[in-house]
Amino acid sequence: MNGRKCAALVSGISERGKKLKIKFRKSITFRITGWLFLVMTVLMIMTFAVFRLVSVSVLQKTIRGYLLSSVNENTNRIAFYQDKARMDDNDLNDVYIRYKDGWLEIDDDFLDEINDVQSALYTSDGTMLYGKNPIARVMEKESFTASRVYRYETSDGNRYFVYDRKLNGAAMQGLWIRGVVPLRAEERQIGDIFRTSMIFVPVLLLAGIAVTYVTVRQSLMPVRRIEQTASEISRGTDLARRIEIGEVDAELSDLAEAFNGMLDRLERSFEAEQRFTSDASHELRTPMAVILNQTELALEKDRQPEEYRRALSVILRQGRRMQALIASMLDYTRMEMRPENYPLTDLDLSELADSTVRDMALIPTPSMTLTAEIQPGVRTCGNRLLLERALQNLIDNACKYGKEEGNILVRLETRDKKVILSVSDDGIGICAEDQPRIFERFYRADSSRSSRNVFGAGLGLSMVRKIMEIHGGTVSVESLPGEGSTFYLNFPDNNR
Ligand code: ADP
Repeated sequence: MNGRKCAALVSGISERGKKLKIKFRKSITFRITGWLFLVMTVLMIMTFAVFRLVSVSVLQKTIRGYLLSSVNENTNRIAFYQDKARMDDNDLNDVYIRYKDGWLEIDDDFLDEINDVQSALYTSDGTMLYGKNPIARVMEKESFTASRVYRYETSDGNRYFVYDRKLNGAAMQGLWIRGVVPLRAEERQIGDIFRTSMIFVPVLLLAGIAVTYVTVRQSLMPVRRIEQTASEISRGTDLARRIEIGEVDAELSDLAEAFNGMLDRLERSFEAEQRFTSDASHELRTPMAVILNQTELALEKDRQPEEYRRALSVILRQGRRMQALIASMLDYTRMEMRPENYPLTDLDLSELADSTVRDMALIPTPSMTLTAEIQPGVRTCGNRLLLERALQNLIDNACKYGKEEGNILVRLETRDKKVILSVSDDGIGICAEDQPRIFERFYRADSSRSSRNVFGAGLGLSMVRKIMEIHGGTVSVESLPGEGSTFYLNFPDNNR
């Protein structure tokens, strides 16, 4: 491998690494886990700080409690006897100290040292008679302070709680018990708690992060599936694929359902487009074939002018057919793709129907009678251009498929407060099987194909249906073969 190739490979790998890094940073799982880690750490630090504060005060309270109870109990364990004979000398463990003109008896239950509290007996001048005191020497000069616990700090920085209590009884006047407890005990206990936390907190934190990561990943699984399905669909052409909606969280199953709904619509419109394209090309193929055929025939050899004229008139007819077909297709597509180009406004439907009938009556239709029964003052919310187009299509069909010397009736009425615009003829009619299909694009009933030479692309009624859809209404038909048909434009209630 030469140097340039190697450099390209290395830069390719580092580029991919960068992309992965960015993708990872942008991943929801990473972000949620990261934020949770941050929040948990802050929370733990705060909890620990609060805990430390509370525990210090609780510990101090406990230590003070120990100190008070040790000293108070010890005051009851000292007695004074003038007469040695009256002393309780049954207990050989008791301690006897000569004091003034008698004896001090220190019970063997005297708590010299318990829970780190060390107690000692003093005379008021500071001489220690009995007991233990870790800082007796430094406190030698400290006078006694009655009835409160106080702090004492030695020059080397050690801190203590101290409690002095005067003994009761006339004979023991001037005697004190001093209890001393080092604050080291409190610090040691907090230190213990801190050390234990230092082991448990990171373990808990890590466990929390791991659980969050797995849960978030698991919860986002459907999103991944949606993404995979979307990529598969965009890579291939299988629009029929759907996301399986299992037992996922409500929000995500809603998302999956919405996505599937969108795919349904996409698939339907894609199929419709495909059908439209294939139908359109099928419809164009026939006139095109006729044109080519006539042209080839005309050019094959020298022909009579009459033959050329016949060929050209066939070509012209087929050309017009194609022109009409293309115009209808363009109109239809424009309307379907951009319904917003046809805004709906309040309009006088009676006037619209009347003027359309008048215009249509001007088109010479041999031996057909076009009459109108129009209820005046009927208004609706609609698009003038589209509604005119719909009515024209229906009248046009009535002319195409009506019988010679037949009658066409356009009627506008309100029935049960519903606006209905209808076009009736007494023509060839439509058989029951064809009736549901005539509104499909490019569909033409066989009877009309075989009937007199009527040109039609099969788009007129589908356009009428689309127009009524845009208006929130419907189109329907009643027909009997051989007797005639009536097409109804039914407007929605809110258009009254
Ligand atoms: P086109 O008229 O161009 O063929 P349309 O979509 O307007 O297309 O109509 C579809 C089919 O419905 C027609 O081919 C015809 O078979 C039938 N049709 C429509 N209107 C009438 C009618 N008034 N009487 C009988 N058949 C009709």
